[in-house]
Amino acid sequence: MNGSNWKVCKFGGSSLADAEQIRKSADIMLQDPLRRIMVVSAPGKRTPHDSKITDQLIELAQAIQGGYEFTSIVERIASRYAGIAADLGLHEDFAELVRTYLNERVGQVSALNSRQFSDLLMASGEDMCARLVSAYILSIGHEVRYVNPMEAGLTLQYVKGGRVQVHNSSYGKLSELTRTRELIIFPGFFGADEGGKVAVFSRGGSDITGSILAAAVGAQVYENWTDVDSVFSTDPKIIPHPHAIKEMTYTEMRELAYAGFTVLHEEALEPVYYNDIPLQIRNTNNPYGAGTRIMSKRTDYDGIITGIAGSKGFVAIRLQKYLMNREVGFAAAALNVMQEFELPVEHIPTGIDSLSVVLRERVFSEAVERQVTARLKDVLDLDDDEITIQRGIAMVSIVGDALPRTVGLLARALVALSEGGINLEFIVQAAGEISVLFGIEEEFCSYAIQLLYKCYFSHYQE
Ligand code: ASP
Repeated sequence: MNGSNWKVCKFGGSSLADAEQIRKSADIMLQDPLRRIMVVSAPGKRTPHDSKITDQLIELAQAIQGGYEFTSIVERIASRYAGIAADLGLHEDFAELVRTYLNERVGQVSALNSRQFSDLLMASGEDMCARLVSAYILSIGHEVRYVNPMEAGLTLQYVKGGRVQVHNSSYGKLSELTRTRELIIFPGFFGADEGGKVAVFSRGGSDITGSILAAAVGAQVYENWTDVDSVFSTDPKIIPHPHAIKEMTYTEMRELAYAGFTVLHEEALEPVYYNDIPLQIRNTNNPYGAGTRIMSKRTDYDGIITGIAGSKGFVAIRLQKYLMNREVGFAAAALNVMQEFELPVEHIPTGIDSLSVVLRERVFSEAVERQVTARLKDVLDLDDDEITIQRGIAMVSIVGDALPRTVGLLARALVALSEGGINLEFIVQAAGEISVLFGIEEEFCSYAIQLLYKCYFSHYQE
C-alpha cells in the first residue's frame, strides 16, 4: 500500500477541549475518506481562564516529586475526561479508567529519573485523549484503530542542548501504517526514547508528530487543524483583523515562526519540508475556510511582504575595537567564547570596528554575563569601555520571498520606522535571504509592527 493520496490531520488542544469540539473534529475526519490518520493533542483550554490537561499533568508530576498531596489533581484530570466521555454518550466509566491509568503511571515514580517521570505523565494527556476519541468514533459506527506511537516505532533521541528529536529509523517503521485499513488515531507529542522509555517533544510537539507521520506515509497533505482561520500577516493582538496569508513557502513560515509566529511548532516544518508535502493550516470551527497552504513554491506570488513579526528577549554583546577589521581571528575568538559557555548565537551584526553577538536573554543570566564578559576581555584584549551589554532588545522582522528580488521594498520599512522615530540598534539581513530583522528597544516592538503593517498592508485595510 502507499499513502500518497492520504491526508494526515493533526488536531490541536482547542479542537479537542470538550465533547462538542471532539464531535467537530471527528466529523472533519469522517467527511473525507482520504483523511486516514488523525493525530490528537491533549484537551486544551475551553475558555481563556481554563487550564490545559498537559499543564495539569505537569502540576501532578511536580506535586508527586515534591512530596505534596496529589490525589485531588488525579481526580480533577479524571473528571475532565469523564465529563467529555459522558457528553459524547460513552458508557464506560472513564473516570475509573483514567484514575487506574494515571495511578499505574504515578506508581513508576521511584523507577524513573525526574525527566522520565514527568515525560511519562505529560504523554498521558495525548494518550488518554486518543483512546477517548477512538472510543467515540467506534461508538458512532466507524472502524477505527488506536495506534500507540511507541509500538508503531516512533523513536525520539536527545540531542545537544537537551532537545528531543525524531530518530531517523522511525520513518521506515511508521511507513508500515499504510497497511492499516481502519482510520488511525495516533496520539501526538510522545514516542519512545532509545532506551524504550516514554519521551516527549517540547511543548506543542503534536505538530511535529503529525509532520513526521505525513512524511513517513508520503501523504498528499498534512492538515493542521487549529482554532484560527489562517496564518495572519501579523499578530492580531497588535493589528486587529490582519490580512490572511493564503499561501506561503516553508522558508517564509520558518522565518516567521522564528520571529514570533506561534501558529505552528517551530520544528514541525522539517519533516514535510524534506519530503515536499504541503502543510495546510485549517480551522476546526470553520472547516470550509481556505486556511493557509505552506509549500515549497508559491503560486500567487504578489511581490509584497508576506508577514511581519516581533519577538522580545534578546541581548546584544557589543565588542568595539579600533582596526578590528585588520585583526585576523577576532570574530572567531569571540565566537569561541560563546561556544565555551554553550551559548547559542542568534545573530552577529558587524561593522568595521565593531561586532555584536546577539543571544536570547534567557540563556544569558547576570552570572553568565559576568563570566562571559571577563573571558571576552581576556581573550580579545578589550578595555572596559570596549565591551557593552544591551539587554531588552526586540527583533522585529519583515519576511517575504519578494524581499531579495524587489528593489525598494526594504527602503519602505526604513522610512516608516524612521518617520515613527524608532531608533534601529542594528539590522540583520543575510545575503539573498527572505527576511530582514531590525533590532530595536523592546518597548517599541508593537509600535514598530504597527508602522510596518501600515507601510506594507494599508491597501488591505477596510
Ligand atoms: N499537549 C502538549 C502541549 O500542550 C502537546 C501539544 O498539544 O502539541 O504542549
